[in-house]
Amino acid sequence: MPADLIERLDAHAAEHDYTGRSEVVREGARTLLTEFDDDRLAGDPLAAVVSVFYDFGTQHVERRVTELRHEHDAHIASNDHSHVEDYCVDCFVLEADLDAISTFVGKLRAVEDVETVDYSLVSLDSIGHLQDA
Ligand SMILES: [Zn+2]
Repeated sequence: MPADLIERLDAHAAEHDYTGRSEVVREGARTLLTEFDDDRLAGDPLAAVVSVFYDFGTQHVERRVTELRHEHDAHIASNDHSHVEDYCVDCFVLEADLDAISTFVGKLRAVEDVETVDYSLVSLDSIGHLQDA
């Protein structure tokens, strides 16, 4: 684990009265593993907007993100590549179920040197209900 991440874990532990960094890591692992366990959304047709930030010019990241885009092409409605300050930003719109979105987000997070992966989910059924009301 990188030294700066260990420092941030220690600071977070101290700030929030954890017994130590391993308790923070444990809770982080639990959160990560249950992140997509949402019975309200499982089985629903969903749309997701996923953003990926990484350092400008890190070709191995750009190559891997492109590979993932091709691998998950069946679920990707659109993809846009932009530059913000010194970062490349890939923005994906997906139309898929929770499992497929979870797999895609997980694979993006596992890409070495990716800075952040964020997403938002919308249940396409709930949009329909809003229109009916
Ligand atoms: Zn770029």
